[in-house]
Amino acid sequence: MAATVAASLGADVTLVESSIIGGAAHLWDCIPSKTMVASSIRMNSIRNAEKLGFAADQSPVDLKRLAARMDTIATDLSENTSEVLEDQGVRLIMGRGRFVGPHQAIATTAEGDIDIGFDVALISTGSAPRVPDWATVDRTRILTTRDAYHLGEVPEHMIVIGSGVTGVEFVSIFASMGSRVTLLVSRQQVLPHRDAEVAAALEEDFLERGVKLLKGARAIGAVVTDDGVVVTADDGRSVTGSHVLLAIGSIPLTANLGLEAAGVEDDGGYVPVDEFQRTNVPHIYAAGDVTGKLPLSSVASMQGRKLARHALGYQVKPLDYSKVAQAIFAEPEIASVGLEEADLAAAGRRIRSTKVPFASNSRSVIQGQERGFVKVFSDPATHEVLGGTIVGHRASELIGILALAVQGRLHVETLVETLMVHPSLSESLTEAAD
Ligand SMILES: Cc1cc2nc3c(=O)[nH]c(=O)nc-3n(C[C@H](O)[C@H](O)[C@H](O)COP(=O)(O)OP(=O)(O)OC[C@H]3O[C@@H](n4cnc5c(N)ncnc54)[C@H](O)[C@@H]3O)c2cc1C
Repeated sequence: MAATVAASLGADVTLVESSIIGGAAHLWDCIPSKTMVASSIRMNSIRNAEKLGFAADQSPVDLKRLAARMDTIATDLSENTSEVLEDQGVRLIMGRGRFVGPHQAIATTAEGDIDIGFDVALISTGSAPRVPDWATVDRTRILTTRDAYHLGEVPEHMIVIGSGVTGVEFVSIFASMGSRVTLLVSRQQVLPHRDAEVAAALEEDFLERGVKLLKGARAIGAVVTDDGVVVTADDGRSVTGSHVLLAIGSIPLTANLGLEAAGVEDDGGYVPVDEFQRTNVPHIYAAGDVTGKLPLSSVASMQGRKLARHALGYQVKPLDYSKVAQAIFAEPEIASVGLEEADLAAAGRRIRSTKVPFASNSRSVIQGQERGFVKVFSDPATHEVLGGTIVGHRASELIGILALAVQGRLHVETLVETLMVHPSLSESLTEAAD
């Protein structure tokens, strides 16, 4: 994003990439995981087809075909991005970059080293899955999320460690694909940092689908045996499965980047930045997971868009992290924008919280997707929309309406007076606002 925006504003841009253009989001994270989600949603629809008048077909998913589809999507997206950048005149160098001075970098490529002098640089090297010291990833039985896409066959019993966003998405995927799934939850609810009501909706779905939740169990060991793997928890419990998936966060990729040569300070590998994404060296910016801010592709892109303009002398507004829309692609989908109810209260804000269930929405009922709810938070004095949470079918799309309301500082009355299509899921937003 930074490269394309800077090029469109007339800058001379060089992009160094050691893997594929588009980054981990294309190859390992957002795109392949959501491609798996798309297939798992279809699996669930097929499973529930009888409800809509069809004879249910229980044919299993072919993971090899699915993996081929993921690879094609990643390659196509990457090629399209590369074409756009090249058309804009961006110089693409496939190689590993490192700083050798505050205005000098080297890209090590298959054809040798290339020297690159620069006025402005951006560090956006991303992150990699965190592997605890009690597990050895063999990519066959003990996996990180990056190993979850090419398993060949649906795992018989997947043990997922980590009940944050990534963990619960993979629980939902493998449960839909027919695996037995056990989730180790180190605290007393999945999604420990989220609204209890949201976590409860997800847990209800997991339990209905036969997912076993081991609450209060922090994993401390994972050992491969002859026919599977055994995971032990700190409370003495252990669980035996066919595979283990580690979903316990990520670490920044800044080793061997030559930060010291450029004079850039890091904090435990993360690169601290100011509100305009500048590091302690003002002409060197950092964006994305490497900054330790909200690790989302959407956030990384927006940071890139803003910093490119800033670096070229344009006035930009700092990114407001309290207005980021985000989603968890489980079933039901969970999406939110703005601060959570508890955070708004903790910040001393008086809020009005209104909620309607999708069970009263005719489109939800027609589609057989009645689960979930819409919650809208507003300021009781000014009526400004402060945020909201949506749990249910297409929540990741519907949240855009609330995100626009929050960004535009709209009043609840504007939502109420917006004539939505009938029957549609969006009607629940106006109803909740009312
Ligand atoms: C399983 C999973 C699913 C996710 N799903 C979503 C989602 O649905 N929506 C969402 O918004 N976010 C999602 N995320 C988060 C998202 O993927 C990251 O926040 C995002 O990719 C960060 O972008 P980035 O540009 O910082 O890094 P990356 O996308 O990781 O890009 C960094 C790039 O730098 C390259 N690189 C590293 N070092 C060097 C070097 N020395 N020289 C040259 N190149 C180098 C890497 O090869 C990589 O291509 C998901 C994360 C995971 C783990």
